[in-house]
Amino acid sequence: MGTTKTINLKKRPTGTPSLSDFDFTTSDIPELQQGEVLLRTKYVSVDPYLRGRMSDAPSYTPPFKLHEPMVSACIAEVIASKHDQLQKGDHTFGMLQWKESQVVKGALLRTIDPDKAPLSAYLGILGMTGLTAYMGLTEIGKPKKGETLVVSGAAGAVGSVVGQIGKILGLKVVGIAGTDEKVTMLKSEFGFDEGINYKTTENMVKAISKACPDGVDIYFDNVGGEISDAVLHHINKFSRTINCGAISVYNSTETPQSTSVRPFLIKKSSSMQGFIISDFESKHAQGIEQLSRWLMDKKLRHTETIVDGFENIPQAFLDLFKGKNKGKMIVKI
Ligand code: NDP
Repeated sequence: MGTTKTINLKKRPTGTPSLSDFDFTTSDIPELQQGEVLLRTKYVSVDPYLRGRMSDAPSYTPPFKLHEPMVSACIAEVIASKHDQLQKGDHTFGMLQWKESQVVKGALLRTIDPDKAPLSAYLGILGMTGLTAYMGLTEIGKPKKGETLVVSGAAGAVGSVVGQIGKILGLKVVGIAGTDEKVTMLKSEFGFDEGINYKTTENMVKAISKACPDGVDIYFDNVGGEISDAVLHHINKFSRTINCGAISVYNSTETPQSTSVRPFLIKKSSSMQGFIISDFESKHAQGIEQLSRWLMDKKLRHTETIVDGFENIPQAFLDLFKGKNKGKMIVKI
């Protein structure tokens, strides 16, 4: 059946990952067996959590194996099929290897409709990051109209959707991001009330106080570290912190030092809850339906950074840690 370019994990990174942690090989495409399809990859999602899978520390997903292909959420087109329900030309979603073409069991794929939304949207706003925003905010944040929501990583895939949903639900929304351009975008494109550039702000505790005169009722945390320590100083009675991600410490080589949260939580009868999106699996269909409706009604904006070319997948992944993306980072093949 020919050969395909493949991207493998070459070595486990220490600290910040680099291009030398990946290598490109050419591998054979096997013959199609009954129940399988041949796919051509069209869009590849790169995500911060892949950093965790590149290391061999125990986590909620198993580590990638050395010298084997990297895997992430992808959209692919069926090129040939020996599966009853999948036909040539169908578009599918699956956790696929970083290969230009591959043979997989049809049962592991979900068909998606390119007429309902752009294909890439199924990796972002109608996929894992959109659901993470919706589930985290509604199920753990339990938002009430008029409350103040602070979002870190606000201009990224999850954060930009959290803030927009916050506005739909009648919250005051303050976003924290890493450039002035992103802060402007939060307000002009996503309707956030305030934005803070954490890279140019000397005193985050003061900046949050100014942006949130009534304190913080919900903190949707995508970054952890010092930014999140600063938010703690402003949490209100019965406030909720949603621990979604901690990208600021994913590349740390030492145990991160941070403020002791307990006294803050006790004084404010406040709660803090971590989650992973699969915790809410039974509610995913309902979440996607709601996100699709808001998208169709133009209440949600779908923003992404599209990088072109299979060979640029590793660099696009590395660029997440440099804040090069606005909205969902996706590679188009
Ligand atoms: P993003 O699209 O938000 O991309 C990552 C962003 O993080 C960058 O654009 C950058 O923006 C910011 N960033 C990078 N390094 C730092 C740093 N040191 N300090 C502060 N900000 C930094 O990614 P996602 O939306 O996909 O993911 C956001 C978070 O949510 C991640 O932590 C991820 O692991 C987590 N997540 C958790 C899930 C769950 O089930 N719990 C599911 C999906 C994601 P900037 O320019 O603002 O610095």
